[in-house]
Amino acid sequence: MTEKDAAETEDFLRSIINASPVAVITTNERGEILIFSREAEAAFGYRESEVLGKNVHVLMPEPDKSRHDGYMRRYLDTGEARIIGRARPVSARRKSGETFPAVLHISEFTDGERIFVGFVEDVTHQKATERRLEDTQLQLQHAGRIGAMGEIATSIAHELNQPLTAAASLAGAAALTMKKPGDQAREDALALIDDAVSEIQRASGVIRQMRNFLRNRETTRHPQSVNRIVEESCLIALIGAETDGVMIKSDLDNTTGDANVDRIQLQQVVINLIRNAIDAMQETTVKDLSISTRRQDGMVEISIADTGPGIHEDMKARLFQPFATTKEDGMGIGLSISKSIIDSYDGELFARKNHPSGAIFTVRIPAADGDAVR
Ligand code: ADP
Repeated sequence: MTEKDAAETEDFLRSIINASPVAVITTNERGEILIFSREAEAAFGYRESEVLGKNVHVLMPEPDKSRHDGYMRRYLDTGEARIIGRARPVSARRKSGETFPAVLHISEFTDGERIFVGFVEDVTHQKATERRLEDTQLQLQHAGRIGAMGEIATSIAHELNQPLTAAASLAGAAALTMKKPGDQAREDALALIDDAVSEIQRASGVIRQMRNFLRNRETTRHPQSVNRIVEESCLIALIGAETDGVMIKSDLDNTTGDANVDRIQLQQVVINLIRNAIDAMQETTVKDLSISTRRQDGMVEISIADTGPGIHEDMKARLFQPFATTKEDGMGIGLSISKSIIDSYDGELFARKNHPSGAIFTVRIPAADGDAVR
């Protein structure tokens, strides 16, 4: 290949990478960024020139950021692939410090040395919809069907408004374009109609999802990994949360094991505790959020600790009562629902003081395979 050919091939590859609708990031074996596609620039808020040669862990929040070099070393040493070749949900970090939920797929190839290609899809919108739906579901469970209808209607209106407005204006534009003479106008109009159709399909997707959520979900319990549920909950809880300056530490003991639970229910509990912890630290300067799990005496324990102001004196006696809240926009139902879920597992949910400041909420439930000593 001549030099000119090589340059042309490279330009061609570059154009393909930049045309990708998901962010494409390539790194060498040391994790140094080699290519940062246009979509990556849009998703992460960095220019390519700012991150070239930097370690890819700048794009991750803790704890992955600190662990990433170790993951890579282990993979290069042992060939044991934890995430290569599989798509998995991760939390990613923008230049602004904001985190967002994403699906990551990594492939590798050899070009003298090993090159890793990461495809990162920002699923914020998708997750935000799911979360709003979950919130609605949570409120529905508590407040009873009639009381929650207003909330549901608001969510539906919000989620449907956007694609339907877009579809209406695309259809309007198509009608205008159609009035112009010539084949090009016809083609343009068809393209606009296609776009309108996909917006309408998006709207019908929202309705389908709503229907699934509104269907009275039966809870099914089976033994499943508590660490995994905690990881997933953490991801959901951090979406859209005010996490600026929050240091997240997670210490999930690998002896924690399974508990016999309904996954969504336990997620609701953990998500609620994490969101409360983040809410509590809005005004404090030290913002440490520690999420840990362990196993003790046949019980599985999940603890969420924060460095906020701790539980308000007035709240102490009513913490788990419904509609008890100190927040302006609070509903005061999160902890009461959480407690009833954990009670139904023969477990306990309790709060204590963190030192020097803040609160620690702990969930204890029987391990799936343990004789609980109680
Ligand atoms: P909401 O968050 O809507 O107020 P919750 O039932 O989840 O409802 O919480 C009830 C109240 O418990 C909160 O308003 C707050 O006063 C208190 N609380 C919960 N978590 C914490 C925490 N981590 N630190 C301090 N107070 C908390």
